[in-house]
Amino acid sequence: MGEFEQQASWGFETAAIHAGQDPDPVTGAVVTPISLSTTFQQPEVGQHRGYEYSRSGNPTRTAYETQVAALEGATHGLAFSSGLAAEDNVLRLLAAGDRVLLGNDAYGGTYRLISKVHTHLPWTAVDLLDIDSLAANWPADTKLIWLETPTNPLLRCFDIEAIAAVAHAHDAIVVVDNTFATPYLQQPLSLGADVVVHSATKYLGGHSDVVGGFLALDDEGLAQRLRFTQNAAGAVPAPFDCYMALRGVKTLAIRMERHCSNARAVVDLLVGHPAVEQVLYPQLPDHPGHAAASKQMRDFGGMVSFTLRGGKQSALRVAAATELFTLGESLGAVESLIEHPGEMTHASAAGSPLEVPDNLVRLSVGIETAADLVADLEQALTHA
Ligand code: PLP
Repeated sequence: MGEFEQQASWGFETAAIHAGQDPDPVTGAVVTPISLSTTFQQPEVGQHRGYEYSRSGNPTRTAYETQVAALEGATHGLAFSSGLAAEDNVLRLLAAGDRVLLGNDAYGGTYRLISKVHTHLPWTAVDLLDIDSLAANWPADTKLIWLETPTNPLLRCFDIEAIAAVAHAHDAIVVVDNTFATPYLQQPLSLGADVVVHSATKYLGGHSDVVGGFLALDDEGLAQRLRFTQNAAGAVPAPFDCYMALRGVKTLAIRMERHCSNARAVVDLLVGHPAVEQVLYPQLPDHPGHAAASKQMRDFGGMVSFTLRGGKQSALRVAAATELFTLGESLGAVESLIEHPGEMTHASAAGSPLEVPDNLVRLSVGIETAADLVADLEQALTHA
């Protein structure tokens, strides 16, 4: 299940619409059916047609796992009930005392999972922009390095190839959270990552209507262990959720193109605006990791963050003043969202090395008309 072989020559958009999605062999249905059955008839004891019990495997999930694995250029795809469930399964590869290196900007929930749930794993937050320092100060007990690129919420970008070279010299597993980039903009496995993680809740689903997680990888041994835990711990998505995510992924390429061009329009407004202190967007030449982003990404993504000269209160006022940008958590969907990471998505990182500036605002730029988004932000900034 989740295997992707025969369609390897397809382009990205073709794979998104066809990988794992052959018309139904019985009815010819073009749309992948939602297989609700929890159990599957077995011709004889010990024999089955590929499915026994829906936690272990489900036809709708197989279609979705095959589709996203294809887009990541991966041999194996595993779907989970949330991004954090997918992350939890990866961390279960480790034994007590195995150290995790975590990039010093990451989703607050990932930090919380490592530091508050997997308390048997020592961890160190590291600056992944400085590869020389990473190599020189590599803790000997490190078994896994975890990075987002671009990061949530500072949008820092890290050189996956260079980091993987350092990590592999120490036999550590390289995990890349590809949620912000999506496989359309960046394919970490081709750059040396071992495991790709997604919050499918974001761009993969793309419509703010399904929570999900995903792992993509090539390594057979790791895949077997992860598939074992996927079934044994059981954090699998419902067939309906698999259908929703699969449906969303079909339009990933065209959505990402619009997310990127709209983000550029927003950045053009913010850069040089008197109320704005700094704009964080990987395309800007002075942005931390701009070189890595230019090298490994097709385009620079739909997320934009910025800090306000007027401090935290100014940031809170702007976040409350938009009309089209909805004030809310999450990201990566067709509608634009605005949030204050310090008080919202990254509250769990307060007081840690991953704490975010309190004058920071994060935008998930949607696919609405660019001029409308720019006008909305322009009026909101008058409240800064
Ligand atoms: N990774 C990133 C970069 C995220 O932004 C999030 C959620 O915001 C997650 C992982 C966790 O995913 P989920 O909310 O689907 O559990």
